[in-house]
Amino acid sequence: MRFSQVAGHAPLKAKLIMNLREGRVPHAQFFLGPRGSGNLPLAIAYARYLLCADPGPADPCGACASCGQMEKLAHPDMHFAFPLFLNEKSRTCAPLLPAWRDLVLKEPYLDAALWRDHLEGENKQLRMGVDVAAEITRQLSLKAYAGGWRVMLVWLPELMDAAAANKLLKVLEEPEPRTVFLLVGHEADRILPTILSRTQLVKVPALAEDDIVRALRGKFEDLAEADAHAAAVRSAGDLLEATQSVEKGEEELFVLFRDWLRACYALKVQDTVEFAEHFAKMGRERQKGLMRYGLYLVRLSMLMSQRAFQLVRTTGEELKFVTDISRLLGADNVSGMREELEMAHVHLERNANAKVLFMDLSYRLHGLLKQR
Ligand SMILES: [Zn+2]
Repeated sequence: MRFSQVAGHAPLKAKLIMNLREGRVPHAQFFLGPRGSGNLPLAIAYARYLLCADPGPADPCGACASCGQMEKLAHPDMHFAFPLFLNEKSRTCAPLLPAWRDLVLKEPYLDAALWRDHLEGENKQLRMGVDVAAEITRQLSLKAYAGGWRVMLVWLPELMDAAAANKLLKVLEEPEPRTVFLLVGHEADRILPTILSRTQLVKVPALAEDDIVRALRGKFEDLAEADAHAAAVRSAGDLLEATQSVEKGEEELFVLFRDWLRACYALKVQDTVEFAEHFAKMGRERQKGLMRYGLYLVRLSMLMSQRAFQLVRTTGEELKFVTDISRLLGADNVSGMREELEMAHVHLERNANAKVLFMDLSYRLHGLLKQR
């Protein structure tokens, strides 16, 4: 993973590279970013640049021994710690390292759920216990293999047990020379404040829509620009979400939203109940994605009714549907539609009862759509 292979974040990459080139290498950094932001590939690219024998102005050389090893995430001075299912047999990362490497190489934007699936442990809890902390200490007690920098990357430090976190804190308090800690996680408020105070924060923001579109079109050759754009908008800056929605087949959310809105419009009560029940089973992220997608369609419809056709970047069935709703929306009801969908998104974030919320929303949307 090189900087050029990580989507977006141009200013942040430039800053990280400048620091490295000027010899400013913090002892510990925390790459904090939301799911799908790319904080993990960014941290790996950073490590690869640091370990490279002859880095260029924007990327590692790609030709030295270190680059070859980092290409497979198998550099002897690059260590990884990550959460696992703690039990009698499994307490440390080493036995799971090949599986972790495989997954990261396949999907560098992975989240805990993907890792859990990869380990085939549906309802088990991922954690890092004291044995992982001891493993970190042990690895760092060895001399650097190549005689240069050593990197310890801790993925999802928020899943460390208290005892493990305290052990890690000790290591951070007494930094070894030429050793770099890279913590990579999503939730700073679940990490010991004493650990945070010893790390330099690298804030990785959610990706911009255009960066997601570019990344998707790089991954999926046949993906049309309009579809990439729709997936990017729905994902709210989360490249993993966008990738998974393309893999699952874009249409699913579209068909759900379209058919639900039609049922709302016609006030088919039994259908709206069934939709609400179906949505309630979908999981929070997908429910929120559905609301964001609805907002995106409303926005396109508005552009359509204002005759700003060049801005309506969509095709096929989606375009047809957008055209249909643009006839039902106007100055009097469009802001109401937007507010309803935005509020639903907020309530879903706060764990509202999904079935009740969607039933209620169906009636309100019916009222709004019939307003004209
Ligand atoms: Zn190199």
